[in-house]
Amino acid sequence: MLVVGGGLVGLATAVFLGELGVRTVLVDRHAGASIQGRARGINQRTMELYRAVGLEAEIRAAGRPFADDWGVARCETLAGDWHWLFADDAPKAWPDLSPSEFCQADQSAIEPILIAAGRTRGTSYRFGTELVSLTQDEDRATAVLGDLATGANSTVEARYVVAADGQRSPIREQLGIPRTGPGVVQHSASIVFRADLAPYVPRRALFWIIANDAVGAGLVTTAEPGRWSLNVAYDPAAGQSLEDFTTERAIAAVRAAVGVPDLAVEIEDVAGWQQTIGLADRYRAGRVFLAGDAAHTWPPAGAMGANTGVQDGHNLAWKVAGVLRGWAGERLLDSYEAERRTVAAELSDLIVKRQLKRIGTTVEDDTTDDQLWTLGQRYRSDAVAGADHTTVFGDTLDRTVRPGCRAPHVWIDNQISTHDLFGRGYVLFAPTDPQPWLDAIRQVQPTLPVEAYRIGTEPRWSSYGPSPLVSLIRPDGYVAWTGTDPEHLAGVMPSLLALDR
Ligand SMILES: Cc1cc2nc3c(=O)[nH]c(=O)nc-3n(C[C@H](O)[C@H](O)[C@H](O)COP(=O)(O)OP(=O)(O)OC[C@H]3O[C@@H](n4cnc5c(N)ncnc54)[C@H](O)[C@@H]3O)c2cc1C
Repeated sequence: MLVVGGGLVGLATAVFLGELGVRTVLVDRHAGASIQGRARGINQRTMELYRAVGLEAEIRAAGRPFADDWGVARCETLAGDWHWLFADDAPKAWPDLSPSEFCQADQSAIEPILIAAGRTRGTSYRFGTELVSLTQDEDRATAVLGDLATGANSTVEARYVVAADGQRSPIREQLGIPRTGPGVVQHSASIVFRADLAPYVPRRALFWIIANDAVGAGLVTTAEPGRWSLNVAYDPAAGQSLEDFTTERAIAAVRAAVGVPDLAVEIEDVAGWQQTIGLADRYRAGRVFLAGDAAHTWPPAGAMGANTGVQDGHNLAWKVAGVLRGWAGERLLDSYEAERRTVAAELSDLIVKRQLKRIGTTVEDDTTDDQLWTLGQRYRSDAVAGADHTTVFGDTLDRTVRPGCRAPHVWIDNQISTHDLFGRGYVLFAPTDPQPWLDAIRQVQPTLPVEAYRIGTEPRWSSYGPSPLVSLIRPDGYVAWTGTDPEHLAGVMPSLLALDR
């Protein structure tokens, strides 16, 4: 497996693949982890996925300095009055719904954790290396890689490729996959700086939207107390460019945003990024799969970019593992686009509305809440049997076991959630002896990794009922099937695993 791109999405995908024993090579132009950490908000669903590979505690610890940061505020200057857009009303933990809590941890703090985790799972990293070209035939994909230090080219062959190569995605471009949407809506310079802002920040936020006559910017906290990132919008149509952001200009922008003309500021880095809205028309071209910003890009409102991308990688990883291990047919990989692109298409509209609302525009129909966005994404595809919903999100979060939905979280004891059982293979929950259903599965696919559990009769298991309902959960914690008849399960298994019979 080849992963192109070592941002959060590529790095996390390599961990998920490695966890399932898929040997992966990851390449990135950069020399190592990013210092320009943009994504900070990791939602409960993404934390569940990190939890399943044993990284939740380490990632939470990396975010610890800012565990209490919360909310988004708007102001003219940081030193002036703030108007909270949201403060304490968005809970970080939903203990009835998920074993994991929302976490704020800097991208620059998480990436080294993911790299170390990938390494122990066999990922081979080629940083400072660029993908030069990518071709594919019936058997394999062939990538020519260029070492940016030496200029030497080498070749890597892989069965499949994940294009996690960011919003400009050279791979998407090369494949000629169109992207639908308005495209670049804002150019920004991201200024990473050090300054003592404590006197102006009586209560830390996730970020501040700052607008005055001199500067329009978003100020983001980082994992170090005196280190900040100011994202300043500029307009190329008005003749402005990233090159304008000299050290002097960057210091002036920081001072204007804070509202303190003689503030001591040390500039660490200035990099450009473009706020882009777009969705790739396809997520798959033969052996190549788009993931993360290569597939979908949105404004930051809702903190969905990296979260959705990491969840893309997780959705793909177990399917690839199934095909490479031989327990699933190649067509299972088509369900990746059917599931993840449909979710992204639905989110695109909602996120744009939320962003407009955040900058003060009145929007209608902005009803989808964080719980639904995070835990309520529903799938319809051949990898699910019997889904009875027609939309990605329902009106409220369904807490019962339903095909195509994320499986309910139930504490098995004080520390182990049902979600801790998912990831390695399929999981079967039955209120009676599960053997007949296990036999039904094995009769179709003897090599399928599947664990069976007999669930209790206590009220907490009601979300997996009513008895005698049996449920089959996929490795990503989504419900593949529910029913009571082993023969019915045997009948749908070939389709669920895309086995050509
Ligand atoms: C201000 C801001 C705040 C945000 N906050 C959040 C948040 O709180 N939560 C959240 O979920 N999202 C957030 N986002 C969005 C999030 O940052 C992105 O969605 C996410 O980081 C995208 O990750 P990625 O791995 O897909 O792409 P990238 O991080 O862009 O990584 C792509 C990688 O591919 C490499 N690459 C590209 N082409 C090649 C090539 N040919 N050869 C080798 N390497 C190549 C690049 O070097 C790069 O490292 C925020 C975004 C912004 C701008």
